[in-house]
Amino acid sequence: MRCASCNADTPGKTAKGNGYRCSNCGHQFVAVKKRDGVSDAAIQKAIEQVSDKGKLFYRTEHVAYRLQRKLFGAGKTGRIGCLVLIALIVVGLLFVAMTAKAWQPLVAVAVFCVIGAVVWFGSRTKDYLELMKRFEAVNPPERAVPATEALIERERGREALLSGLRGAARILVCQNRHDAHFLIANDFHLQHVCPVTGPDGKAVDGFPELEKRLARPGALEIFVLHDFTPAGFGFIRRVRQLPGVVKRREPTTLVEMGFDDRHLPMLKRMLLPLARIAGSSDATVKEWKAREGAQVTALMPAVLLAAAGASLAEHAPIRSPKKEDDEGLDHESGDSE
Ligand SMILES: [Zn+2]
Repeated sequence: MRCASCNADTPGKTAKGNGYRCSNCGHQFVAVKKRDGVSDAAIQKAIEQVSDKGKLFYRTEHVAYRLQRKLFGAGKTGRIGCLVLIALIVVGLLFVAMTAKAWQPLVAVAVFCVIGAVVWFGSRTKDYLELMKRFEAVNPPERAVPATEALIERERGREALLSGLRGAARILVCQNRHDAHFLIANDFHLQHVCPVTGPDGKAVDGFPELEKRLARPGALEIFVLHDFTPAGFGFIRRVRQLPGVVKRREPTTLVEMGFDDRHLPMLKRMLLPLARIAGSSDATVKEWKAREGAQVTALMPAVLLAAAGASLAEHAPIRSPKKEDDEGLDHESGDSE
């Protein structure tokens, strides 16, 4: 097992013997491949990809999604293989049982089915977010998106830089406060001269950005970034119906950045059962067409930053990457475990 601190390699047996600690520096191992499906080294690689080699701020969820996406593919084939194997064994043993009238094979069939089911469901319910939280408790992240207070503090120290945003004729409203924080932490608002707010239209410093801009004369473009979930669709509907938007006399354009059905090709590997997405109630799960959704956070940080920037420039929804770009965007090429 490769150490997340000193990079030394400790044989699995040795690690197990000393309470999963590095034999070189004593650093605690967190993930055990057999149990968690990934090793600490694989998690570090995912962090490197998500942070674009330490250049971007990211959230724990970004890494969890990265692991999920990477392992879901492998897990899926594993599960299908498992099912096929079980089916073959069942058919074979039933055939034997029928011809030989023996009861032992039937018992064996039952045992195999139970083992198969346990393996199958076990691999389905892995919680990479929980694993990532444990990992970060031992290996504190260097580029974590700062918490609200820390971010406000940072922005307050940059008044001169932010002053350019005050006159901008556009604003980006995020359904999720954490997505706004992620964009701001990575200076998206400065790079694109576009104030970024949370769902309440307030800027990170608590200033009522959206309200103020709606009241101000002149053309205004409102960009809205939301999840591919019932809550996300509800959010864009609410923004459309805001009194300040409906009654505005000045030219007002509302640009739905995403995500919706148009983004399905882009989101196909990021869809999760809605029941597993935070904030989904039983009622929304039942009425939601596909019963699967995707959060903005499911996108790789670099991909989201680039796609959102392009959306602002084009005054159009986030575009799905061209098929041939798909793999490259996800930094999937050259991946080996
Ligand atoms: Zn070590």
